Amino acid sequence: MPRPIEALIDAGALAHNLTVLRQRAPGARLMVALKANAYGHGIERIYSGLTGADALAVVDIDEARRLRELGWRGAILLIEGCFEPRDLEACSRLHLWHVVHRAEQIDWLAGHKTREAHQVFLKINTGMNRLGFAPQAARAAWARLAALAQVDGITLMSHLSDADGPRLGVADGIAHQLTAFDAACGELPAAASLANSAAVLRHPEASADWVRVGLAAYGASPDHPAHTAADWDLRPVMSLRAQLIAVQDVPAGGTVGYGSTFVAPAPLRIGIVACGYADGYPRVAPTGTPVRVDGVAARTVGRVSMDMLAVDLTPCPTAGPGSWVTLWGADGQSGVQPVDEVAASAGTLAYELMCALAPRVPTRTQAKPL
Ligand SMILES: *Cc1c(COP(=O)(O)O)cnc(C)c1O
Repeated sequence: MPRPIEALIDAGALAHNLTVLRQRAPGARLMVALKANAYGHGIERIYSGLTGADALAVVDIDEARRLRELGWRGAILLIEGCFEPRDLEACSRLHLWHVVHRAEQIDWLAGHKTREAHQVFLKINTGMNRLGFAPQAARAAWARLAALAQVDGITLMSHLSDADGPRLGVADGIAHQLTAFDAACGELPAAASLANSAAVLRHPEASADWVRVGLAAYGASPDHPAHTAADWDLRPVMSLRAQLIAVQDVPAGGTVGYGSTFVAPAPLRIGIVACGYADGYPRVAPTGTPVRVDGVAARTVGRVSMDMLAVDLTPCPTAGPGSWVTLWGADGQSGVQPVDEVAASAGTLAYELMCALAPRVPTRTQAKPL
């Protein structure tokens, strides 16, 4: 028998979330970020939930190739652009759109031989200081691109650093970037794309022509704890669960796990769960991280091991070996353990937990219900 742990991937939840996000940005087209193997969910596993997307965004050409093999005929954007001139050949062959964020990428395009001109997204650095042309260089870059026979259309884009909350003590974390974007290229005759998940939900004024959603599409809240995923009507696409494989009666004063970080204040019944950090559960999640045991809210105790972790069974006295423990996601009994809560407990974000789901975890997919 395989280890009793599994991840459930619910493409129907993805389809639902895309509907919610589209309603939030009714005038915009919807691009779904599938980088990092669909945020750890597996591109092939969630593919059936993507019919509501207008375009898909990836970082690796290999991910784009897989999408074409799955039959996706719509637009695919290389969201970090080409890494070397040769990548343009793959763009031509696979009909990929690509981001242009530095001058060499325009040089490469100018030297590229293609029968079909490319759609490009010209990225402006409006303050994130990661990728993009400086605002004062935006018009010249646009003019260079517009003059190339290799370029068919240009969409202007930027990325927001603080759409999920205040920035440097100012309540609105994006106004300065919207102003910089407008000053850099506001009058250029091109479509624009600025918003990530947080902006779609919190700043509808930034929706522009294309929104680019990732986290919220997978059912986590981009501004937890200000809002939960349920507040935004988002459903978890990934659920991680494992069975109890042992129960221990720990006397008062007994300790649990490596380092004896947890000392039982009173006699305690604990369950040992077949999930550890080698499955992608965060090792740094401390005592008290929430889980659901047989659909009942409970908490972890002690350190997370490689293959196991321990939970306090006080709230669920009937639980025993074979009981299912939901580490995050849907518990199968209409309850949900929000991945955002686990991430917060571990001092990280749902992004990281989703992406870190280990390949050794067997995965079951729930196809999109018709
Ligand atoms: C990943 C990514 C997004 C999506 O971000 P979320 O916060 O997951 O919605 C949008 N834009 C760019 C450029 C990205 O790389």
